[in-house]
Amino acid sequence: MSKKHNFSAGPCILPQEVFEKSAAAILDFNGIGLSLLEISHRSKDFVPVMDEARAIVKRLMKLDDDYEVIYVGGGASLQFLMVPFNLMKSENGKAAYLDTGTWAAGAIKEAKKLGTVDVVGSSKAENYSFIPKDYKVGSEYDYFHCTSNNTIYGTQMRSFPEVDTLMVCDMSSDIFSRVIDFSKFDIIYAGAQKNMGPAGVTMVVVKKSVLGKTGRDIPSYLDYSLHIAKDSMFNTPPVFPVYATLLTLQHLENNGGIEAAEIRNEAKAKLLYDEIDRNPLFETFCVKEDRSLMNACFKLLDESKKDEFDAAWKAAGINGLNGHRSIGGYRASMYNALPIESVQVLVDVMKNIN
Ligand SMILES: *Cc1c(COP(=O)(O)O)cnc(C)c1O
Repeated sequence: MSKKHNFSAGPCILPQEVFEKSAAAILDFNGIGLSLLEISHRSKDFVPVMDEARAIVKRLMKLDDDYEVIYVGGGASLQFLMVPFNLMKSENGKAAYLDTGTWAAGAIKEAKKLGTVDVVGSSKAENYSFIPKDYKVGSEYDYFHCTSNNTIYGTQMRSFPEVDTLMVCDMSSDIFSRVIDFSKFDIIYAGAQKNMGPAGVTMVVVKKSVLGKTGRDIPSYLDYSLHIAKDSMFNTPPVFPVYATLLTLQHLENNGGIEAAEIRNEAKAKLLYDEIDRNPLFETFCVKEDRSLMNACFKLLDESKKDEFDAAWKAAGINGLNGHRSIGGYRASMYNALPIESVQVLVDVMKNIN
C-alpha cells in the first residue's frame, strides 16, 4: 500500500528515514546481535543514545551549559504538574498563566493544586480564536506559563512577551518548527509525539539555576534536579521513543536545522492558507494574525459540500484531516516531516470542490 498524505495531529508523521532506522534497531541494534528493546538502558550501547539525544537538543537550540535536557514519561500532561512543583514557592506561591486553549487550561488546572494562579490573558470566551497580547507579568509571580502553539484551535504565539519573572513554555506542537530565541525561556517542555518522535516520552529543557528555590519537598520523580543529577536515567527511560527522537533530531540537524525547517514550514502554511483565503467555501476558526504554521484548523462554510469534500480528500490518499472532536471542522497538521507535496494534494482537492 502506498504511503498516505498524513495530516494527523499527533501521534503524527515522522521522517521516513526514522521509521526505517528505528524499525531496523528493533531487529538488530547497531549490529550487536540484540534488539534495542532487549538491552539494558545502562549498557554501553544505549547510554550514548541518551547522551546524544540530550546534547543535540542543546546544539539545535543554541543553549549554553546552564541548560540541561531530560527525557521523562507522563506526556506533556505530567509537566502541567511538574512545572509548579519545581517553580511555585511553597509559601504564598503565585504564577501567571496565559489561557490560549484546552492544553493551557489543563496546565492551569494542575498549577492551582499548588498555589495561586492568575490567568493574565484568556481567549476562552471567544472560543480561543486569538492569542491575548494585552497583559503584563510582574516580578510578584514565581513564573509565567504559556503555550506556544494551540494544536486544537490552530493558533500560534508569533512572538513572546517580555516578563519580569521566569518563562515556561509548553512547545509540544511546534517544537523545532521555527527559529526562536530559546534562551528567553527557563523551562521548555514538549511531548515528543507532535514533531519529534513517537508517543511515550517528553523532552524537558531546564535552566539549572532556577531550580531549588521553592522550599518544597518535591516527590522524587517530579523533581527536575534529580533527573538532571542522574543524567536522565533516574528510572528506566522510554528507550525506544528516546532513540526514535534522536533519529528525528539528527535528520533535522542534517537537513539544515531549525532555520531550514522554518523556511519549509512557512512555504507549506502559505500554500494552504492562500487557498483557504481564496476559496469562498473555507474559513479558519481563528484570526489571521495568530494562525499556526503547524496546525491549520478550518471549516467548510457550506455544509452541503461536506460529503463531497470528505470523499475527495479520502480518495486522494489523505489521512487525519478531521478537526479535534471539541471543535469539529478540519485540521491540517503540517509538522516538520510533512512534505509540501502532501499540502499540494490537499489544496488541489479544495480547488476542485465547487
Ligand atoms: C498534545 C498536547 C499536549 C498533551 O500531550 P500529552 O503528551 O498527551 O500529555 C499538551 N500540550 C500541547 C500544546 C499539546 O499539543
